[in-house]
Amino acid sequence: MDPKLNELKARLQEAHDLNAAAAVLQWDQSTYMPPGGSAARARQSAVLARLAHEKFTDPAIGHLLDELRPLEESLPYDDDDAALIRVARRHYERQTKVPSAFLAQFYRHTAESYTVWTKARPENNFALVQPYLEKTLDFSRQLADFFPGYEHIADPLIDFADYGMKASTLRTVFDALRTRLVPIVHSITAQPPADDTCLHRTFPQAEQRAFFEKVIRAFGYDFERGRCDVSPHPFTTGFSVGDIRITVRYKENDLSEALFSAMHEAGHAMYEQGCNPAYEATPLAGGTSSGVHESQSRLWENLVGRSYGFWTYYYPHLQTTFPAQLGDVSLDTFYRAINKVQPSLIRTDADEVTYNLHVMLRFDFELALLEGKLSVRDLPEAWRERFKADFGILPADDRDGVLQDVHWYGGIVGGAFQGYTLGNILSALFYQCALAAHPQIPAEIARGEFATLHGWLKDNLYTHGSKYTAPELIERVTGGPLRIEPYITYLRTKYGALYEL
Ligand code: ZN
Repeated sequence: MDPKLNELKARLQEAHDLNAAAAVLQWDQSTYMPPGGSAARARQSAVLARLAHEKFTDPAIGHLLDELRPLEESLPYDDDDAALIRVARRHYERQTKVPSAFLAQFYRHTAESYTVWTKARPENNFALVQPYLEKTLDFSRQLADFFPGYEHIADPLIDFADYGMKASTLRTVFDALRTRLVPIVHSITAQPPADDTCLHRTFPQAEQRAFFEKVIRAFGYDFERGRCDVSPHPFTTGFSVGDIRITVRYKENDLSEALFSAMHEAGHAMYEQGCNPAYEATPLAGGTSSGVHESQSRLWENLVGRSYGFWTYYYPHLQTTFPAQLGDVSLDTFYRAINKVQPSLIRTDADEVTYNLHVMLRFDFELALLEGKLSVRDLPEAWRERFKADFGILPADDRDGVLQDVHWYGGIVGGAFQGYTLGNILSALFYQCALAAHPQIPAEIARGEFATLHGWLKDNLYTHGSKYTAPELIERVTGGPLRIEPYITYLRTKYGALYEL
């Protein structure tokens, strides 16, 4: 092998390992660390982050990437070494184009902004954070300008999470989705909401754990290369292809909380466990974008885990686990309960159908703010108007409106939200392709068998890691660009049967 390529890999591995060590510390902090450890942990994490950044932005890596350009160009686009050089260059440029003085200023500002937001939200006081958000918007525009040549000012910011996805494409796709979704939501909300009281009896934690562990093992989550712990907010983290962990949080009076977050996080984790082991410790390991990542969590959580077929097999097992709580509840009642649709003010509490409206509202506001078509001052009013139009309800205050998400108050404006809805759209698109290849998948799911589906996802998506960008992967796997029809069909079919649409 080319000695320069070897040197590049060795340097990338050092940076990767420092990041992985930082991730272990973060995982520990969110799961088992006693509160007394927090000051030292913040310091330790900062040291590792600085060292990893120094390693990765070492000019020697830049020289190697330049020297390897002829090799890259001599190899086919699909070649793993070509992909490694290409993806490493993209990361290197992203991390070196922004001056560190700017970043230091920006981080200082977001830390202050976050602190002010934690006060402003409970006080329902938008005016308090308004000047901070105005400054954040300013920083976000400046950040985009470090990556000149964009078509839309949001594009470089979207690239941080969903590389290659353009604001113009997303706007077209999301507008089409919104036009189709709003009437579905309005027609569901005109009907009485489903009764989900059966999910709110008392479900002891140990039995919840035993049940969902059986489910995610059957999905294909490998406990030899992972584990599941408890944290205040569920997440997936990984330190190598051989160690991808998940967490859940339990609510004894809400059966759906741990159950569906376990399926969701297992979906994220199986994506990373399924990565080609040859990509270990390189920028090719791990998922390619937030949208594709989210498509895998949603696919297992919603298309499989909230499907009728799945529960025809698993519901009797669940009833055996909780005979006192669910013995008198029919499968149909349970199925309606776990698929209850009800417009709510809070994005993170939203169901499968209304969730996207929350996301698209935020996405559109991000674009309007960045374009200068909407001022921060007018944002709360714009929020109320749009919310009323899409959901048919009006937030009582800014606390549950424009102040609810941390994203804009502790980060940048732009690129923070599109991944969630992209994930939903892609989950149905990829699933449709899996069914086209293996029409027996739904029948297998109804027998509690998932190997065909898991195998197809592994061969077509998981194994590639970050080798292809999301648009490239979508084209390869689905034979066309991003499109919403499979997702609309999925929602109409499923919710058409549950509600009169
Ligand atoms: Zn997720």
